[in-house]
Amino acid sequence: MHGRFAPSPTGRLHLGNLRTALVAWLSTRVQHGEFIVRMEDLDPVTSSRRHEVQQLADLAALGVDHDGVVVRQSERFGLYRDAIARLSADGLVYPCYCTRREIREAASAPHGWSMADGAYPGTCRLLSEQRRRQLEREGRRAALRLRTAGQRMEFDDIVAGRVEGAVDDVVVQRNDGVPAYNLAVVVDDHLQGVTEVVRGDDLLSSTPRQMHLQRLLGLSTPVYAHLPLAVGADGERLAKRHGAVTLADAGPVDAVRSLLGSSLGLCDRDEAVTAADLVERFSWSRVPRTPWVAGTDLAPGDSGSTEAATG
Ligand code: GLU
Repeated sequence: MHGRFAPSPTGRLHLGNLRTALVAWLSTRVQHGEFIVRMEDLDPVTSSRRHEVQQLADLAALGVDHDGVVVRQSERFGLYRDAIARLSADGLVYPCYCTRREIREAASAPHGWSMADGAYPGTCRLLSEQRRRQLEREGRRAALRLRTAGQRMEFDDIVAGRVEGAVDDVVVQRNDGVPAYNLAVVVDDHLQGVTEVVRGDDLLSSTPRQMHLQRLLGLSTPVYAHLPLAVGADGERLAKRHGAVTLADAGPVDAVRSLLGSSLGLCDRDEAVTAADLVERFSWSRVPRTPWVAGTDLAPGDSGSTEAATG
């Protein structure tokens, strides 16, 4: 059994991220599995080594240790390009020149059928060679999208239960040449032997896409557990404006461990617990199926920023 936590090193981990990491780790340790940490630093602009070091230090302080070396996606582009080449050889990818704005406009235009949130409306799927050349001449750079046919996927999620969702023409390579998250994540989870994926339920709608990619590439499908997000007292996704949301300001770390443990039904809010204590008590049946309202426990923040601490 292999579990994992795969943060993007784009900022300080906030309590929601730490809670997800803790659950992933607890579930792995209860099963005597290996726990992998993978840095999803595909985006060279938003990712940094400084954040990576800080995130690993925060996890360690909480007691979330890992086995083996920390793998960085930025060092594995060759593996992702091989996978894209295989899809391409099977005629399963096409260039897409759309800007975000064009996609938004096309998706909101009336067309008599309903589309999943954020789904690509298929504008470039049937571009003529002539139009393609014209767009290239205009200096547009193409992303690569997967050619799909409205397939639907079903799976049993440990937390969310039975989930069904549609597959769309997901981007496999961004228009700056960087392999896309959905592609990289299935390649890595397979190559690293990951058998259980615990992550936030903001990614629930991406899971059918990832399962479809796994099938096309002949990769393994892990068991999924999507945790409801941490929210502030106002019900909005936890962010800096909700107050002390990182280990830097919500500490001391022992108190944060107790806070997270109590949010998982494993201890009292003020009970001193070690990470090992939590392993002994962990059970999926205790993990709440509803969002964790962290906001009520937090000190007021010093910044008025509404930006999330990290993705
Ligand atoms: N890197 C993603 C994030 O930080 C998580 C991806 C995953 O767990 O599959 O949101």
